[in-house]
Amino acid sequence: MTTPVFQPVAPIARRGVMLVLSSPSGAGKSSISRALLDSEAELALSVSVTTRDPRPGEDEAIHYFFRSVPEVEAMAEKGELLEWAKVFENYYGTPRQPVEQALQAGRDVMFDIDWQGNRQLKANAPDDVVSIFILPPSLAELESRLVKRGQDSAEVIAKRMAKAVDEISHWGEYDYCVVNISLEDSIAQVKAILHAERLKRERRIGMAAFVADALAG
Ligand code: GDP
Ligand code: ADP
Ligand code: 5GP
Repeated sequence: MTTPVFQPVAPIARRGVMLVLSSPSGAGKSSISRALLDSEAELALSVSVTTRDPRPGEDEAIHYFFRSVPEVEAMAEKGELLEWAKVFENYYGTPRQPVEQALQAGRDVMFDIDWQGNRQLKANAPDDVVSIFILPPSLAELESRLVKRGQDSAEVIAKRMAKAVDEISHWGEYDYCVVNISLEDSIAQVKAILHAERLKRERRIGMAAFVADALAG
């Protein structure tokens, strides 16, 4: 008698994770998401459309799709955005097609979006969205990081600080909370969340048939 080997012949399909990162501006979303993209082959980043101006070093289609207000409004009207919101007097939105393509291909998708976007994604895909709120160690440290980043004017930084408390007030709507004291620790924590979520039974869509077969003998 041969011993049954609990070994699938083909990779077992799983449902992709929609990993949302939100935080007040400057708390470290971009630094954390860059590190994750470098080390997680199955993870794609959703590139948003925005009506704000590019910062120095930001590239079209890599950091954002930079578009005019009428262009973004037209995309929203045609249903080409999974969600959109007005943040800091500009429109930001998530193009639908690349996200759906990546999820269908079995990849996870990460979103750097605000609380309004998280709310909309969660309402539309409650089983797929896993949301993480990134908190700065303190408001003083947040301001110091925005200043050190050196990419926004004093006026823009003041506006972002004024909005920080409002953004933080939505932390209760998130599944997880990471306090970004050390960047290395925060990256490890976000990775741990992603890795555990990938293993959730509900996401192992191929596994149910496999287990049923195994039990049937
Ligand atoms: P940063 O937070 O300093 O990196 O500044 P950005 O100008 O890149 O982003 C400003 C805000 O817009 C942040 O809170 C982002 O999370 C949010 N944001 C970016 N893309 C989207 C999007 O597609 N949808 C929504 N709802 N918010 C977005
Ligand atoms: P966000 O994308 O949330 O606006 P960034 O990732 O651009 O934030 O981070 C803001 C600034 O703070 C950047 O200059 C970044 O290098 C720095 N930073 C991020 N995390 C840390 C940390 N744990 N300690 C110190 N500086 C950090
Ligand atoms: P990057 O954009 O490559 O993530 O980092 C740019 C700058 O952010 C670095 O030169 C560094 O000064 C700062 N930085 C990012 N993460 C950390 C961190 O964990 N600790 C400290 N002290 N500085 C960081």
